Amino acid sequence: MNVLRRGGHFFFRRKAFFCRTMSDRLNAPSWAHGLFEEIAKGEAPSHKIYEDDVVFAFLDINPLSKGHSLVIPKKQVTFLDEMDDETAASIGKVLPRIARAIMKVTGAKCYNVLQNNGSMAHQVVPHVHFHIIPKYSKEDGLGVGWDASKPLKEDVTDLKKSIASQIEAESKKTSGKI
Ligand code: AMP
Repeated sequence: MNVLRRGGHFFFRRKAFFCRTMSDRLNAPSWAHGLFEEIAKGEAPSHKIYEDDVVFAFLDINPLSKGHSLVIPKKQVTFLDEMDDETAASIGKVLPRIARAIMKVTGAKCYNVLQNNGSMAHQVVPHVHFHIIPKYSKEDGLGVGWDASKPLKEDVTDLKKSIASQIEAESKKTSGKI
């Protein structure tokens, strides 16, 4: 299991403001609803670093390290698994380019790309976003606790088969190629 250590954001302490109607996966605070859509439209302020027809990127307002940025689709979807193939492809195309620019400008040699889905996975803003977080030293940036397990061989075999056939079914449905 992956355990992520993040800076203490105020929203974890002010649960009363969380919107409980969002979904069973995410109780987003009311201030976060529509925020990234507004940012992408230029209706809310941001430190924009990139924009095209589909994708928008800007500096995180509470960075874990210098250059911490967010890359979002302009169209609102809450979770990665809700994103259509075309939008995903557009994001995938520019993510390395944006990461290269951040590394070049900041001089960081290492970085994490983080994408949270659901409250338990530390998602707060209900709009898909990819964090690019430079790591300058062990102490700064994203801290990751990696509590790895040793699964049984038969469990892995079953799991692999189930996931692979689910992906195949999904690919046929969307006629997407993986
Ligand atoms: P997550 O926990 O993955 O949902 O991350 C949400 C991120 O959005 C946090 O890192 C916040 O600091 C960041 N954030 C929230 N509001 C803004 C804003 N107005 N401009 C830039 N970043 C923001």
